[in-house]
This record gives sequence, C-alpha cells and structure tokens, in this order.
Amino acid sequence: MDVELIDLHVHTTASDGTMTPEKTVFYAARSGLRAVAITDHDTVDGLPEALEAGLRAGIEVVPGVELSVDYPGQMHILGYYVDPENSKLSRELAGLKGNRDRRNPKIVAKLRQLGFDINMDEVIRESGGVIVGRPHFAAVLKKKGYVTCVDEAFDLYLGAGKPAYVKKDKISPDQGIQMILNSGGIPVLAHPGYLKVNCGEEFELLIGELQERGLLGIEAYYTTHTAEQTAYYVAMAALKGLLVTGGSDFHGDNKPHISIGKGGGDLVVRYDLLAKMKNIWSKKRTGT
Ligand code: AMP
Ligand code: ZN
Ligand code: FE
Ligand code: FE
Repeated sequence: MDVELIDLHVHTTASDGTMTPEKTVFYAARSGLRAVAITDHDTVDGLPEALEAGLRAGIEVVPGVELSVDYPGQMHILGYYVDPENSKLSRELAGLKGNRDRRNPKIVAKLRQLGFDINMDEVIRESGGVIVGRPHFAAVLKKKGYVTCVDEAFDLYLGAGKPAYVKKDKISPDQGIQMILNSGGIPVLAHPGYLKVNCGEEFELLIGELQERGLLGIEAYYTTHTAEQTAYYVAMAALKGLLVTGGSDFHGDNKPHISIGKGGGDLVVRYDLLAKMKNIWSKKRTGT
C-alpha cells in the first residue's frame, strides 16, 4: 500500500454522490489514501461532517467545492480550502441552489411528457433533499426500470441536447473564481478534458484569461484524461506557474465505474501535489 496516494475530487450525498460524507471519508481511509478532498457540486454542507470524520478515520480531509460555470462544453471550477462558515459564500451557494430549483421541475415536466411516471418529490427524496442534480433523476429512472444504468439515462434523456435536457442558469467563470477566492479558497480548473477547447494555442489562451482572473491550478490527473492529455496539462501548468491537482470524481453508485483514488484503475495522484497547494494556501493566508 502506497501511503502517499490522495484523491482531490470526490462527491458525497451532500450533492450527487451516494455515500454520506462520513462514510466517504472512512472509505477513503480504508482504501489507503493519505488525503481526500470533498468537492460537492455547489455546496459546502457536507464539509463539517467530513472534516470531523477525518479526525476519527486518521486521514487528512481537504474542504472543497465544485462550481459549474458558463462556458461551451462543461467548465467546472474546484475550490480548495474554502471556508464553509463564510456568509458571502453561503449566500452565493444559495443562489446556485435556486438556479437548480428552478430547473428541476422543468426536467420532471419533460420526462413526464416522454411518458415516464416520475414526480419532483421522488427525485428530492432520492437526492437527500439539498442539491438536486441530473444523477438523481437518472437514479429514479433506473429504480423504476426505465433505464438499466445512470449512463443510459444521460445518453437517452438527460444529457445536453437530449429530450429531457434543460439548461441551468450558471455563473460566469470569473464569478466562480471570485466566489472561491473571496472565501479564502484556491480555484482550480476541473477536468479540462471536458472543455470544448482543443489542446494548443486555444487552451493556452483560455488558461491565460482564467489565470488573470485568479485561477491557481489545473486538474491534470483525472479519471478520463489520457496519458497524453495529462502530460499536456502538467506541462501547461508548469509553463504558467500553476498548481497541478488530480482526482477521480468518485460518486459512489451513481458512477460505479469510478473508484476512489483509482479512477478507472490507473489514476495515480500523489501527496506532493497537495503539499504544494498547502504551501500556496498558507502563503495566501499570511500574505507572504
Ligand atoms: P447537473 O449538475 O445537475 O447538471 O448534473 C451534473 C452531474 O451529472 C455531474 O456529476 C456529471 O458528472 C453528471 N453527468 C453529466 N453528464 C453525464 C453522463 N453523460 N453520464 C453520467 N453522468 C453525467
Ligand atoms: Zn456530480
Ligand atoms: Fe465536474
Ligand atoms: Fe465532480
């Protein structure tokens, strides 16, 4: 067992994962990880429970969040060491939840139009009641036998451009970065492989713009990145003086093909990446 392994991208029941924050942290420890970051979508609600569990499980827990921002393809910004008690952050996250709450009934209406027997209460129950996202709709469709797996629900109905897709109002990349910086966090571009931007000049330009806004890192190591993509993102981070991070995007049974710490099987994220991030974080805090 390599005690230097970590995972900096993990979801719990606070958003659309299927394990509670406490269970996730103990599971990460049992899986041999030295540190785990909890990065739920649009919420910090799971962080107190996760941090407390970390003390008992003997694993370092990094408080985090993952924000969806408006950009072609799918742009997500991870925020590490955000302060869950920050009241401005809480207000802004409540606004993001409002965007979801306006979108979700529209998804139900579309699914019902497609002939599925589904209602909002069932989906809210499936979600545990706070952040309701598309994986929860997928889970209900699966339980009712309309699809065989979560992926099928996205491929046929819930994915972008599919018949039950509803666009969500999103904040701009700049707003997402500021939200994280204002609450003391470190903003990192999540899974750049999902962006509709090719590696090369276009990506370098984008990174430059985000960096001007305050971006501090790139998630180079990620479950679906190829070795070539990872090498490219690591090189870009080095060129720009940005941090490198990595994680699996573990969601429990909502993404059964992703293992914590291991991704699809060959993900390797080492503790030294976190050590560098903590270094930057403490310099930021002390203003040195
Ligand atoms: P939402 O925030 O409600 O738009 O849902 C986003 C969640 O759905 C994230 O966890 C994504 O990883 C997940 N997701 C998006 N597309 C797919 C897909 N094609 N298959 C499975 N999960 C997906
Ligand atoms: Zn998710
Ligand atoms: Fe993401
Ligand atoms: Fe994620």
